[in-house]
Amino acid sequence: MAKIYFYDATELDREQLTAALSDTDHSWEFVPTKIDDSPIQPDAEVVSLFVSSTLTREMIEQMPNLRLVALRSTGFNNVDFEALEERGITVANVPTYGESTVAEFAFAMLLNLTRKLPEVLTTENNQFRPSQLMGIDLAGKTFGVIGAGHIGQHTISIASGFRMKVIAYDPYPNEEVARELGFEYKSLEEVIEKSDLISIHVPYIPSTHHLLNDESISRMKKGAYIINTSRGEIVDTIALIKYLDNGHLGGAAIDTVEGESLLKYSEEVALLKEQKLPSKDLWNSVEISILEKMPNVVISPHNAYNTSEAIGRINNTTAQNIINFWYGEVPNKVKPPERPKGMLIVTRHAESEWNATGQWTGITDVHLSVKGFREAGMLGKRFKDLGIKPDIAFCSEQIRSRETLEGILNASQNFDVDIERVGAINERDYGDYTGRNKWEMKEVLGEEKFNAVRRHWNEPIPNGETLKMVYERVIPFYKETILPLLHSGKNVIICAHGNSIRALMKYLETIADDDMGNVEMIFGQILVYDVDDEGRQINKEVYKIDSPAPKA
Ligand code: NAD
Repeated sequence: MAKIYFYDATELDREQLTAALSDTDHSWEFVPTKIDDSPIQPDAEVVSLFVSSTLTREMIEQMPNLRLVALRSTGFNNVDFEALEERGITVANVPTYGESTVAEFAFAMLLNLTRKLPEVLTTENNQFRPSQLMGIDLAGKTFGVIGAGHIGQHTISIASGFRMKVIAYDPYPNEEVARELGFEYKSLEEVIEKSDLISIHVPYIPSTHHLLNDESISRMKKGAYIINTSRGEIVDTIALIKYLDNGHLGGAAIDTVEGESLLKYSEEVALLKEQKLPSKDLWNSVEISILEKMPNVVISPHNAYNTSEAIGRINNTTAQNIINFWYGEVPNKVKPPERPKGMLIVTRHAESEWNATGQWTGITDVHLSVKGFREAGMLGKRFKDLGIKPDIAFCSEQIRSRETLEGILNASQNFDVDIERVGAINERDYGDYTGRNKWEMKEVLGEEKFNAVRRHWNEPIPNGETLKMVYERVIPFYKETILPLLHSGKNVIICAHGNSIRALMKYLETIADDDMGNVEMIFGQILVYDVDDEGRQINKEVYKIDSPAPKA
């Protein structure tokens, strides 16, 4: 039977875990310190860790018999998955011990902040001016949730009880839950821009690192609040401090912060005693010290999980995970986080001279108009503001897409990105209609035929291409060339045309042939996709420049 070591174990953990495992033949030891500060036990077959421990590759290598890591937490960012996977070691977590527990704490923190409870409760002898203790109402405010999973959904229920309007972003929306709890899913951009208070409940994985950063926080409403009970690394602390300090943010309630172990006096002293201070720790220490002095910040030491009921549930599930593992079942096995994938960034060329006159251009080489050149620069400026860094850029063989891409890369100061011209993403060949004025053609063809020619999936043009034919050249190129680049973590930008982009969207967004009439790629938009192994959309963000070119 297994040799188990429980690290970070409190008296309560000892009591509860001993009771839960008492009927088994396993043997176990409790270690009060985190694994980082404890001798590694080479005979360990199971190690059980709390969030404060970090399990590194070096530690894993010193435990040749290790078979299971039983996390006493929901989050799993504190173990080296790659090293564990290489050895076939299983990781189990406690997926749902405390959704209401953490949500309740998020609101405790939030109310502390919005009603200035620390000041209100420490005011002595009625020595205060009411204006100093004035807070804000929650009723009527917009509450934005990022990550509407177990905890996110509980915060939504509580927020609704306070009569707030709730909006949420989650890459895996569940409309049934949304109807039941009475909230609306929005894009990440909308949640960031429209919320008065934003509560974060996503796991910490590569794609959520600094999800709230300088660019996204700058787009939040003036006076908005951030509540982070998720993981510190999801918010860029330097950006958070910047926008609290300049008054753009109304306040922040923080249970998790980058370098949070330094909130402990003993950790900070230990750090100081080391001869070589790692610069990351120094930065984190300064950041935490600043946050602690800010009047509009409440900060707690990763405590949202901490109720007697929740600890009981954590220990019971952990004991059950260990018992199940030895019977060959692992219902709470953690799926390793996906390796980072690159972003696919898609934009349409800016206005050409023929767009300005309303002529169908197809594969003819027509330069950008003066307005088009200006818009390419504006697209690039938007890229820069969004912090989007492409690694590789593709345009079609038509000069207008190359000129647009050059404008974007120059204005976003991505001077070192090479541009490749590819025929596969050329505009649809308009055959005999090339050069004809669209609005005259509408008269000639009649409205129905005209709309079919412009929008339908398989409508022929004399001596030209259907959208289906465009799809048949765009998608093989996407799968064979672009997808491997995205899977290797590269950000790829494609600057193409209304129809070659519509063809790509059909594949990315799995759109039925008959629905293609409703799919449009307008000028002045930037589409940013995260895709799955097949290259289909997992997430899509849409950004616009302020003054787009005329509607396509
Ligand atoms: P969950 O898995 O039920 O929900 C997470 C949700 O985030 C899912 O719906 C998922 O689709 C969504 N998501 C994933 N990537 C996203 C992205 N890029 N943008 C937006 N949403 C995304 O997990 P949960 O039980 O709700 O816990 C959430 C997190 O809370 C945990 O991962 C953990 O880090 C943290 N946590 C903190 C404490 C604490 O004491 N402070 C306690 C428990 C959990």
